[in-house]
Amino acid sequence: MKEIKKIAVLTSGGDAPGMNAAIRSVVRTGLKKGYEVYGVKRGYHGLLNGELEQMNTRDVSEILQRGGTMLMTARSKEFMEEAGQQKAKEILEVFGIDALIVIGGDGSFRGALDLSRIGVPVIGIPGTIDNDVSSSDFSIGFDTAVNTALQAIDRIRETASSHERCSVIEVMGRDAGYIAMEVGIGCGAECVLIPEVAFDLEQDVCQTLLTGRNMGKHHFIVVLAEGAGSAVEMAQKIEKITGIETRATVLGYVQRGGSPTAFDRMMASLMGIMAVECISKGKFNRVIVHRDGKIKDIDLEKALAMSKTLYAGSMDAVRQLF
Ligand code: ATP
Repeated sequence: MKEIKKIAVLTSGGDAPGMNAAIRSVVRTGLKKGYEVYGVKRGYHGLLNGELEQMNTRDVSEILQRGGTMLMTARSKEFMEEAGQQKAKEILEVFGIDALIVIGGDGSFRGALDLSRIGVPVIGIPGTIDNDVSSSDFSIGFDTAVNTALQAIDRIRETASSHERCSVIEVMGRDAGYIAMEVGIGCGAECVLIPEVAFDLEQDVCQTLLTGRNMGKHHFIVVLAEGAGSAVEMAQKIEKITGIETRATVLGYVQRGGSPTAFDRMMASLMGIMAVECISKGKFNRVIVHRDGKIKDIDLEKALAMSKTLYAGSMDAVRQLF
């Protein structure tokens, strides 16, 4: 086994609260093991530009509690091509990097897998608010995003209730309804609309709202994942069909920022340690996951072949608690 002297870490895809906690953990664990640790700025895009800087323990002071990512993140089309990946490998060789830790979602892990196939040892850490990393029950940032959205909705609920309105609230999730579902159950939404489950506006939404009104409900919340439609259009249609005054709110990037929750800080810190420990044990091309209540490492290729679906009972829970 080649002796490991230098490791590098980057964040890729969308930023997520808790990425900083993971960077801090990787840097400090790496330094304790005697490695030189490099931070790559701006994900794979920065890697192709050679944006690597050596990090010491003080470089990661005071970042644990901050949202975003101190290494910044970017998306790179060039890296998706074979020539880009080859160039990335050469840059890592220029800096003498023996292993690369990638914090991001499944897209970033696909890039990492491509690098591993041309001989770069890699480790993935799941970081995305969407929670759509197929191999891990939770990804860094999801818990914070859900809590941020819930706090915002609790406020909207107070005003919606005073005005006896319906609120359609659009949360993040282009392809996955994890945020919408968790937030919907957490805020007591009448309807949760997600890309994974087809719905009929008249039957599944308007009928539910009118039934609720006839039962004496004064306000209504419809949580919509961005991939399931537009809140503004849906609010207009609901008002037209039901006659209930309806307002749309798009929470947008508010959900991405903010100080990470205790859960995200803890998970990010433990995943960072395990990522470096894998490297020190010569276990490469792994993803650190949170599965069945445990943090463990699994094969990167197998991880990317996995599929994950929403907890089957969650839509029933929304209907049950209506
Ligand atoms: P998020 O869930 O926050 O969007 P992600 O990691 O899935 O995170 P992507 O935008 O899909 O985000 O991927 C980040 C970067 O990873 C891309 O800009 C690209 O450089 C690289 N990447 C994505 N998919 C692939 C792929 N199939 N092959 C090689 N590289 C990829």
